This record gives sequence, C-alpha cells and structure tokens, in this order.
Amino acid sequence: MPTLPPSKKPTLPPGLGSRRLSPSKPKIDRKAYSSDQDVRWCPGCGDYAILASVQRLMPQLDVKRENVVFISGIGCSSRFPYYMETYGMHSIHGRAPTVATGLKASRPELDVWVVTGDGDALSIGGNHLIHILRRNVNLQILLFNNQIYGLTKGQFSPTSEIGKVTKSSPFGSVSPPFNPISISLGASASFVARTADRDTKHLTQILRRAHAHQGSSFIEIYQNCNIYNDGAFFAFTEKATKPERTIYLEHGKPMLFSNGSKGIRLAGFSPVVFDLEEGHLSSEDAIVYDETSLELAEIVSRMSQQPDMPRPFGVFYREERPTYEQMLQEQVMAVTEKRGQGDLDKLLHAADTWTIS
Ligand code: SF4
Repeated sequence: MPTLPPSKKPTLPPGLGSRRLSPSKPKIDRKAYSSDQDVRWCPGCGDYAILASVQRLMPQLDVKRENVVFISGIGCSSRFPYYMETYGMHSIHGRAPTVATGLKASRPELDVWVVTGDGDALSIGGNHLIHILRRNVNLQILLFNNQIYGLTKGQFSPTSEIGKVTKSSPFGSVSPPFNPISISLGASASFVARTADRDTKHLTQILRRAHAHQGSSFIEIYQNCNIYNDGAFFAFTEKATKPERTIYLEHGKPMLFSNGSKGIRLAGFSPVVFDLEEGHLSSEDAIVYDETSLELAEIVSRMSQQPDMPRPFGVFYREERPTYEQMLQEQVMAVTEKRGQGDLDKLLHAADTWTIS
C-alpha cells in the first residue's frame, strides 16, 4: 500500500484531536425543527408562542423528522408549515383535512399535523373538518382560534361573539358563534381538548397527549390576534382574572376553580357553580371529571357559552376506537386475499363507459 510522506498526512482541525470518531447521534433540538424562513406574523401575535412550543416538543416525540408533515389551509395560522423544518403543504382554503386524509390513507406511517384557523376550519372548511373527525384519521388538528379573520384584515369569523363590531359587521355581528369543542364532539372526534397560546406549559402537555392518541385529535388553541382582536381571551390568561374565569379539567379529579374555593356540580343536566366556603357543600359535591364520558364532555363544553361559568380548559373527551387508515388497510388486505391483486386499468374500463364521437 503506498504511504503518504509525513508532510501530506491528513490532520484533524485544531480542537478535534481528542474527539471520539465513533458515530454518534446528531443533537436534535428546537433548532432542528426551525426552518430558515423569515417568520412573517405580526410582532406580538400569539402564533409565535404556539410555533415555539411545537418546535420544542417535536424533538421529544418518538418520530423521525423525515416522517413529519404539517398541512395547513389558508389564513395567518396556515403559514405554519413554512416555519417547520419538516415536510409540509400550504394547501387550499378549508381543505387541509382533505389533503391530510389522502396522505394518511396512502402513507399511514407518516406523522401528520393539520394547522388551521377559525375561519379556515369552521367556515369554508366546516364540512371537511367534521368528516375527518368522524372518520378518525390518525393525526393532530390544531385549530388556532382568534375569533377574527386576521389575514384579510379583521372581519368577523364563525367564532366571533354576537355584537362583534368589525369592518364586515359595522353595527355588530348578529350570528351566534360556533363552539369548536361542541362541534368536534358532535362530529365524533375521539380526542377533544382546549388550551391557550399564553399557557405554553399547558399547551405542550395537551400537544403531547394529542400526539400519543391514536385517532383524530382535535385541539382548540385560544390565540391572541393583537392587531384585529387584541385581548379576546385575556380574561382566561391574565393572572388577575384567570383563577375566577377558568377551570382545568383533570381526569378523575373534582371540578374545582378559584384556587379551590369554588366547584361545579350537576343540577340535573346543568352545571352549577357552588362556593365551598359557604353552605353545606364540600369538594365531594363537585363533579369528578371523567374524560371518557361523552355525555359529561357535551355538558361541560356548553359552559363556554354561559358567561357566568368559568371557561373549561384541558382534555374534554377521549375514546379509543379503530382509525380510518387502519380499517381501510384491513379492508384492502381482506379483499386482496379473497380476489387477488386488483387491476386499476381493468376497473376503469369495466362498465358504464362511453365513447363520445
Ligand atoms: Fe397574528 Fe392577527 Fe397579525 Fe394574523 S393579523 S399575524 S393573527 S396578529
């Protein structure tokens, strides 16, 4: 074997002499999930906190980056895939669930996330949202709810409150708002949760649980649009008002809020607030939350429309049932076993075809 003269022998750059040369795993942290694109949301927008939380969480999940796909529709939140160093698609208005369903059906091994907003998911995309949920496609749907159309500069959205004055409702909106949690429960979602951009610890916990769930995980995220709807959720996120105005749902634990001084009990099918420090009631009279009870989830989801009630956050409902792609694959395998491999060309020309002259 020819040998190099001493002066031509390759040397390691300074500082690397003692480094172990055995293969080691590259460090995967938030940076590995941050793309090189300039983030173009308005300064102060709640989207930043959600993006940072997702980028921090991803390296902790047991997934390969090359198997992760973020799919969005149209709107401010839908710029999300640009900022993730993963595969992604900024798709068609309201149709992210449709694109995601097709992808999961054909590539079930991929880890798919849908990012959408209240306008995208509940107006033009309302139909697509309910069908992905009933099918139980195994993916995560993050609905950034800011109760306004941000990208088109401040029109009322399907979640804006009655009386909301905007450019498109100068005398106040007269349309009752959708409750995204009630809609997803009604559409048979198998995992339903609510969190907020400003509570990144809770947001991360919910994202982690949603990811671990097998099936469609629907997460409503209250997101502050500081340009067109600033402070829409401050009552639920600011220190001074949060204890009185929020309640955190925890499986197997009593529904208490206001630093444990108040509880929620059922009077028939209606939730009622009671004070632990007055009267004869105690924490034992509070509802013990059961996130596997659809009936309870539906009752509690309605508290969001009652101004005298604290706003519930956390996992409203979860249910284990087969996923869409699992059932589809099983069906294809069963039919293939019985009839053999299909012939697409033969199928397309089998019957009911016409020649137009
Ligand atoms: Fe965020 Fe609102 Fe600006 Fe859109 S318009 S980027 S939602 S602050």
